[in-house]
Amino acid sequence: MAITIKNADEIAKMRAAGAVVAEIHRRMKATIKPGVTTIELDRLAEDTMKEFGATSSFLGYHGFPGHICASINDEIVHGIPGKRALKSGDIIAVDVGAILHGFHGDSAWTYPVGDISEKAAQLLRDTEHSLYLAIAAAKAGNRLGAIGHAVEQFASAGGYGIIREYGGHGIGRSMHEEPHVPNHGEAQFGVLLRAGMTLAIEPMLTLGTERTRTLKDKWTVVTTDGSLSAHFEHTVAIGPDGGEILTKPQGVGVE
Ligand code: MG
Ligand code: MG
Repeated sequence: MAITIKNADEIAKMRAAGAVVAEIHRRMKATIKPGVTTIELDRLAEDTMKEFGATSSFLGYHGFPGHICASINDEIVHGIPGKRALKSGDIIAVDVGAILHGFHGDSAWTYPVGDISEKAAQLLRDTEHSLYLAIAAAKAGNRLGAIGHAVEQFASAGGYGIIREYGGHGIGRSMHEEPHVPNHGEAQFGVLLRAGMTLAIEPMLTLGTERTRTLKDKWTVVTTDGSLSAHFEHTVAIGPDGGEILTKPQGVGVE
């Protein structure tokens, strides 16, 4: 399938979907604390989606049972919301995908729970920073490889593990469109980025290994050495000066 190019009206719809995702993250940040369970976070997302007339991108996707993914500590992605209660010192990656007016917004953020170690805090800061470096590289005229190169260069210099088996993706009327957006690569390779392309960019960095395995629940992906993993993601539109972040607060419900 070819990479879809969105017109201005379609990108405006993606901004609206992205604003719902951003509002859910704003509420997550205010809610996450020791004692809260991941199913409570799932309900918060479900209720907020309903409030704004959106639906979950994830619920039912290949049978996924949650409205969000909630991945704690060594869990990298695709954690299933459940009865597990957060503890002080945990980190939790919340991945939110919402559909509004036929378009998807997709954004993940990793939050500290209570007091976390300095190493964990640095992992969160640096993974977030790698996302912003990647977004800056998501500009018209660059090659796709520039995005992954930006992540890899920064993460390698910091001694982090880079999750290479999973990555970002084109996004629009479908959650997963062409192209795959790796978190590593060479800047001169890959398709030419152009205005109207919309991508979910999502670095995943660890304090240890780059190797992953999937738990018996068939969803939750963890680091094989138990090291902490962080995941930050925005949906962006390729622009002349870098990616325009579509999953940021910009007046929910206002079109
Ligand atoms: Mg996501
Ligand atoms: Mg994604």
